[in-house]
Amino acid sequence: MDRPSGASPSGASVFAFLGNDVRLAILDSLYERTVEAGPMTDEASYSTIREDVGVDDSGRFNYHLDKLVGRFVTRHGDGYRLLESGRTVVRIRRTGILSSKPDVEPRSVDAACYRCGSGVVVGYGHGHLLTRCPDCPGLLAHDMVPEGTLSALSYPPSGIESTDLETAFHRAHRRGNHQVCMMSEGFCPCCAGDVTVTIDPCLDHDHAGEGVCNECRLSHPGFVGLSCDVCGLLRMTHPLYATACREPVAGILAARDVEPGWERFAELMRWPVTVAEGEIAFDAPDGSRILVTDGLEVVRDGPPA
Ligand SMILES: [Zn+2]
Ligand SMILES: [Zn+2]
Repeated sequence: MDRPSGASPSGASVFAFLGNDVRLAILDSLYERTVEAGPMTDEASYSTIREDVGVDDSGRFNYHLDKLVGRFVTRHGDGYRLLESGRTVVRIRRTGILSSKPDVEPRSVDAACYRCGSGVVVGYGHGHLLTRCPDCPGLLAHDMVPEGTLSALSYPPSGIESTDLETAFHRAHRRGNHQVCMMSEGFCPCCAGDVTVTIDPCLDHDHAGEGVCNECRLSHPGFVGLSCDVCGLLRMTHPLYATACREPVAGILAARDVEPGWERFAELMRWPVTVAEGEIAFDAPDGSRILVTDGLEVVRDGPPA
């Protein structure tokens, strides 16, 4: 693959290049002045940026500003603007994903476990919003998550710090749903690369117990993997959750008035699932049978009751 060479730092060196408070403050100033101020705002002048950054030594300020030009900043008219690379740096820093490590102790939210009906608890740590049931084995057994885990969603610290936990809980599930819907259309929401679908249902699933299957470690045999060939973004999800934006799943959910987000996930997790000869089939509440085929094609097999 041809990569651009010359002006742009790549790989690890870009972090060293940006590891300077003056450079980051210049990007912040330009973002506030030329991006947040609205699409038609003028470029920011040298004196405005310098005043925002508050560096008295003009030689030092000029040195860092000149370094940024061409890589993250562009000269425009009588001043400066941010390149898309510069905007992206500011946005990523604002999500807190690189610096902030909030932990939220698990608390009850107004939602029920789809397995046993108990109220769920929601917490946040290690960049993930974790929903678990205090009274049953939940969805998966893994030493990375506590017992009773029903969902574990990657979510930025900014999404926790800017709102209350109940809102974050709903937003994380809606956001996760949009991400997997996009991936099920074949491309990555993060980098736009091709997505590979892995359908590898558990053929020896133990339906008998109340717990989690010893074979696949899940309560539910019908999960699929969606992975990006370029950036490696990986999501394990319910196949109908990943196809909830298209027919026939969209129509069934709409007819049942199921809210997007947690309610949608919980609803789909309740549909009985059968795995036979590597194919996954769900029994929808309208009496129809939904088949999931290779490549995540979802078809209705038989009319609704
Ligand atoms: Zn439960
Ligand atoms: Zn990607």
